[in-house]
Amino acid sequence: MPRSWVTRSPAQTQTLGRRLGAVLAPGDTVALCGDLGSGKTTLVQGLAKALGVREAVTSPTFTLVREYRGRLPIYHVDLFRLDREEELETIGYDEFVAGQGVTLIEWAQKMRARLPREYLELTFAVTGPSARTITVLPHGPRAEQLVSRWR
Ligand code: ADP
Ligand code: MG
Repeated sequence: MPRSWVTRSPAQTQTLGRRLGAVLAPGDTVALCGDLGSGKTTLVQGLAKALGVREAVTSPTFTLVREYRGRLPIYHVDLFRLDREEELETIGYDEFVAGQGVTLIEWAQKMRARLPREYLELTFAVTGPSARTITVLPHGPRAEQLVSRWR
């Protein structure tokens, strides 16, 4: 049974992100799936805060990736405008996803085949005017460990 969380405000979604951010380590990948406005960036904002990022986090829609320096390098990817998979090469995707940072990928459903072997998948659904249901699906033992530590 996949676990799911329901949040009732953007602040709650950020808090959920902060708690996940507290347990992330070098090399972790989080895939964030779901439509526009479902709360992916809001969760990333909490995550980034937990990882020590002080600057404002917004969606890197026009650049595909934005890099932040917190206690780890953070690669915040947004594939909403990705047309061809080859565009991933221009941003050095293969290098950073296999590296010692944390990779967070919005619209990850657009390139499932390029995700690493192990990653944590979060699917966001709008379930009310200010309610979001976030379903958690771990891929691999490291992701399972993250789920059990995420409180
Ligand atoms: P995405 O990155 O998935 O496109 P955003 O996080 O940028 O989504 O935007 C989510 C929008 O939904 C924001 O306008 C936010 O204020 C609103 N919202 C309402 N309720 C919630 C909630 N429970 N969690 C997150 N965002 C919410
Ligand atoms: Mg977004």
